[in-house]
Amino acid sequence: MSSTAADYDVIVIGGGPAGENAAAYAVAGSDRTAAIVERELVGGECSYWACIPSKALLRPGHVLAAARAMPGVSATGLDVEAVLRRRDAFVHDHDDSSQAEWARNNRIDVVRGSGRLTGVRSVEVGGRQLRARHAVVLATGTTANVPDVPGLRAALPWTSRDATNLHEVPRRVAVVGGGVVASEAATWLATLGAEVTLLVRGAALLAAAEPFAGERVAAALTEAGVRVRCRTEPTAVERPAAKDTGEGRIHGGPVTVRLRGPDGESALEVDEIVVAAGRAPATEGLGLDAVGLPGGYVAVDDHLTARDVEGDWLYVVGDLNRRAALTHMGKYQGRVCGDVIAARAEGRPLDDPRFVASSDHGKVPQVVFTSPEVASVGLTEAAARDAGHTVEIVELDIAVAGSALSRDDYAGHAKLVVDSATDTLLGATFVGPEVGEQLHAATIAVVGRVPLSTLWHAVPAFPAVSEFWLRLLEARRP
Ligand SMILES: Cc1cc2nc3c(=O)[nH]c(=O)nc-3n(C[C@H](O)[C@H](O)[C@H](O)COP(=O)(O)OP(=O)(O)OC[C@H]3O[C@@H](n4cnc5c(N)ncnc54)[C@H](O)[C@@H]3O)c2cc1C
Repeated sequence: MSSTAADYDVIVIGGGPAGENAAAYAVAGSDRTAAIVERELVGGECSYWACIPSKALLRPGHVLAAARAMPGVSATGLDVEAVLRRRDAFVHDHDDSSQAEWARNNRIDVVRGSGRLTGVRSVEVGGRQLRARHAVVLATGTTANVPDVPGLRAALPWTSRDATNLHEVPRRVAVVGGGVVASEAATWLATLGAEVTLLVRGAALLAAAEPFAGERVAAALTEAGVRVRCRTEPTAVERPAAKDTGEGRIHGGPVTVRLRGPDGESALEVDEIVVAAGRAPATEGLGLDAVGLPGGYVAVDDHLTARDVEGDWLYVVGDLNRRAALTHMGKYQGRVCGDVIAARAEGRPLDDPRFVASSDHGKVPQVVFTSPEVASVGLTEAAARDAGHTVEIVELDIAVAGSALSRDDYAGHAKLVVDSATDTLLGATFVGPEVGEQLHAATIAVVGRVPLSTLWHAVPAFPAVSEFWLRLLEARRP
């Protein structure tokens, strides 16, 4: 296919995990051309400021706890500098040349700069016009939300970018939020030696999960010395000596956080405040108005095509479509989207299930890498009942030979949400050390609608932790 310097078959704005996959799948096995427009680092938030560095910071704490729970193994503690150096290696010191090389190897041009839609199939980057023959994909993700609390912005709080890329550990930290990012950040900050107070607006941590998950994580954080303060929110923040010292450095002098909680008003002095209070769509300057879209998240159909734009040329993948703000789900959407673009470009029908992002609907797997971990897929009991399902609940503590052998202090809990009408799994939640590794079996059962009578014949190996599946199935034997 011929192309001028400014013409591509596919233009992707945003080179995070979702955009990368959309571009790669759209051109795979063809002579189509693609460009990824990226204003920061190819690899996106996930690679440099989110999943990868956070998990690099969390893992040493998990290993240490496991070693401490094992008689005969001596574990003295963490070498914080070494932990931070390992994190730096995983984020490639914020050098994206290997990701850019991956793009080149997949015949994808990387265009550096901010992309802006200027009309149908048209994108402008730094004064240069790019035109797409087939598709434009928006994959710009989200940015951290800083709540409108008096004095908070002026205090230059840490966002998840600073917390994941910390270069010094504040002695006293307040983490604002009660979701996944806040719970994980409180976990690694405490492991690295900070005195952490978690300020949770709601009644519990991890409100979207089964209630026992948030309860167990809160109990473990409390045992680790974190002060978990629920129904508590900042009303004002004062930091007279705020200073922009750079990412992951303490941003000036002490911070006074004024709070409203169940016991009335109070104040807390800390050395840093971390805001983990949700995300906002990265659409500023994206030119959504040029194609008749309002700002904010962009709704898509199951082919990842923007709902309110005619012509099936505009696609949205990843966090920006608000279907499932997780890297693996953004990548999944990228794969579906790329396949759809390729099929439409070649005039093939979209009559195969792989052209439909069906897993976005009630089949999303997620691991929260707190200590203990929370692994879940599909619907919680509450979500299933809200959706009108008649459900049977099976739950028990994880206590099998494999769990006892893996750690002397193993404590875990598992819950299945079974659709009574079809005897299949609607959802599963596991809490315990390293239960993330147990999740994929549940995901297969949920996505494959495997009857529990068939799962009975999926025999877990002895003595593995996965034997708790047998106990769950035994618990509902007639
Ligand atoms: C602290 C933290 C930990 C997380 N941990 C996990 C985890 O363990 N597992 C998991 O599955 N998910 C995790 N997530 C969520 C995960 O990071 C996101 O779901 C994922 O990054 C979304 O991918 P994306 O491609 O949609 O967007 P992003 O990764 O945000 O990438 C978007 C890219 O678009 C670029 N961009 C934006 N606007 C423009 C523009 N106008 N022009 C050019 N480029 C632009 C940005 O620079 C960025 O590179 C975590 C999130 C946070 C904050």
